[in-house]
Amino acid sequence: MQTFKDFELNRFLFQAIEDLGFERPTPIQTEAYPVIRSGKNVVGISQTGTGKTIAFMLPLLQDLKFSKDPSPRIIILVPTRELVTQIVEEIEKLTAYMSHRVVGVFGGVNINTQSEKLADGASIVVATPGRLYDLALNRVIKLKSVQKLVIDEVDVMLDLGFRYQLTNLFEILPEKRQNLMFSATMTTEIDELIADFFIAPEHISIAVSGTPLDNINQCAYAIPNFYTKVNLLKLLLKKRELFNKTIVFTASKKMADRLYENLLPDFASRLGVIHSNKSQNNRFDTTKAFDEGKIDILIATDVISRGLDFQEVSHVVNVDTPEFPENYMHRIGRTGRAEKEGNSILLFTEKEEELKLAIEVLMDYSIPVLDELEHLVYSNQKTPEERPRLMATKSHHRNSKKVESGGAFHEKKAKNSKVNLGNSRKASKADKFKKPKTKGDKIQNRRRK
Ligand code: AMP
Repeated sequence: MQTFKDFELNRFLFQAIEDLGFERPTPIQTEAYPVIRSGKNVVGISQTGTGKTIAFMLPLLQDLKFSKDPSPRIIILVPTRELVTQIVEEIEKLTAYMSHRVVGVFGGVNINTQSEKLADGASIVVATPGRLYDLALNRVIKLKSVQKLVIDEVDVMLDLGFRYQLTNLFEILPEKRQNLMFSATMTTEIDELIADFFIAPEHISIAVSGTPLDNINQCAYAIPNFYTKVNLLKLLLKKRELFNKTIVFTASKKMADRLYENLLPDFASRLGVIHSNKSQNNRFDTTKAFDEGKIDILIATDVISRGLDFQEVSHVVNVDTPEFPENYMHRIGRTGRAEKEGNSILLFTEKEEELKLAIEVLMDYSIPVLDELEHLVYSNQKTPEERPRLMATKSHHRNSKKVESGGAFHEKKAKNSKVNLGNSRKASKADKFKKPKTKGDKIQNRRRK
């Protein structure tokens, strides 16, 4: 196990770490330190609470030389004012014995006060994207000296609609810089952002363990389309004695709203929905009602559900199959907490079958596919996304190699509960998806080819 001594930190940083009382680096700190110091672009998948801030700040500060230049050399972008404050405080502690100045700026407050704070210069600026852009346009802040750009909580940032501000900033930042990006979940939008703006980033991933919790019962239904999924969900939710605290995950806000509208006639008094287009108050009230048992069905998107910790969730239902296997792990981790038994149900279409396989490879576990539910009514209705002319979407999945599909859809009747993929099928699947043999391999596989 590594210690902070192994990092060979300069004595000022080392003393600051000692003062903070940290005994040893967290896994993401150990993993990120050499990669960030190597100067490569980095994409880190890691949740808050894993020691992420120190993970990127230690190597950056270790290499930040003294300079008379008053312009920032490190920029840290975050989605909220609270995070600006929190990260500034953490950096102040780390730089207690160094002469680097850190300033935090965020929108929604008077820009002149913040301009004054910047007038004395700052080597590190922590900012929300829109405010930083305004300050740069007003020439209060010069970005020409920026060498390192950190984008933290990028999933939240994109979900809150900051993409435009981010791309504006990319236009005016020096091209020659190191980019570090952190996110708790992956989304197609993040993948696209990386592809558009980051050259050959190294992927490091900490939060997700490929091993599902033993106390979560997982199963899946092969369902041909969204509206049939809605019908199946209705049948399940009517078994109230079993489904007494259920989180229903959807990939997008649009799908969450559509599902809400469709469930509302049957479950009005039990139902809530949260996503980033809902006001802060609304989200707060809905999650509180769910937590207190006033409602027992909560529809949520991946990103917004982050950081919410509910007790005794009986079921997680995945209405779509997550495009990034890690997101499935995050989702099902909402049930089966604190030694309690939990249940996860995946509804997958034929098109989603290869995504399901990717999840199974990550977990090294085949999700049992159940026979269709009695009384299930099949629907022919299609969502706009399911209509043929829009079907030819490109797959962004990094494991998106062609997989012979059709398994569950053509064999549906043949099995019921546990599916035992014999060694050969498992091995061939593992080969297709380059199943990692060791943790190191797993990280390797995460790297963009
Ligand atoms: P973060 O993931 O950056 O939000 O950090 C979560 C919390 O863990 C913060 O309060 C940090 O100060 C703390 N922390 C960071 N690194 C360590 C460490 N190596 N040992 C103990 N606590 C840490």
